[in-house]
Amino acid sequence: MAKTVSIAIDGPAGAGKSTIARRLAAELGYYYVDTGAIYRTVAYFIDLLGVSPKDADGVARYVDELTVGIEYDEAGVQHMIMNGMDVTDDIRTPDISQKASLVSAHACVREMLLDMQRDVAKAHNVIMDGRDIGSVVLPRANVKIFLTASAEVRAKRRTEELTAKGQKVNYNQILKDIQQRDYQDTHREIAPLKMCRDSVKVDTSEMDIDEVVATIKRIVAEKVKL
Ligand code: C5P
Repeated sequence: MAKTVSIAIDGPAGAGKSTIARRLAAELGYYYVDTGAIYRTVAYFIDLLGVSPKDADGVARYVDELTVGIEYDEAGVQHMIMNGMDVTDDIRTPDISQKASLVSAHACVREMLLDMQRDVAKAHNVIMDGRDIGSVVLPRANVKIFLTASAEVRAKRRTEELTAKGQKVNYNQILKDIQQRDYQDTHREIAPLKMCRDSVKVDTSEMDIDEVVATIKRIVAEKVKL
């Protein structure tokens, strides 16, 4: 099998990872894998069962009953399949964001999802975004980007995004949620969010999407023969 190319984009919530990664993947003809959506699917499943995402034993007891599938539609949009059911839209709420951050701290959850993520990267050229892609999932990725922005800018973007989808949200609450998730995601014991030594940091606070895409394309072109 020909060797595949992988591009890892890690960073905190709301830094613009998925918007940028999706665009870049479409331009390069790569698969885009949003790994946050996988953790959200686990959180949604655990929540439906009425189990607290903090309850390590409860999560471990039920997680084997979950089959997570990733499918792509004709437009290349990633769909999350929970035990055969498409939950793509259900997992995009502030409540599930928080619960995904808590559920993703458990070893049983991270172990269960590791091979699944690696298998996609073995079979396809990928742009994968998340928190631990460069550090744990694909430590030998051809390119590692650490995408970040100030918490205030990220909260503003997330508020606009959810409002555009018709959700009633409040900027101050979103900012608080983002700060709490940053804390949880960077302080957990297993696979915490951190910048790898071989990552290139891109701060998008003062950039628009076109500028970020152009910057990352330059970084990719320096490291990969496209
Ligand atoms: O990226 P997104 O906001 O959808 O991720 C939801 C949560 O899933 C994050 O707050 C993080 O705790 C968790 N996550 C993770 N590892 C990844 C991707 C997401 O722990 N690779």
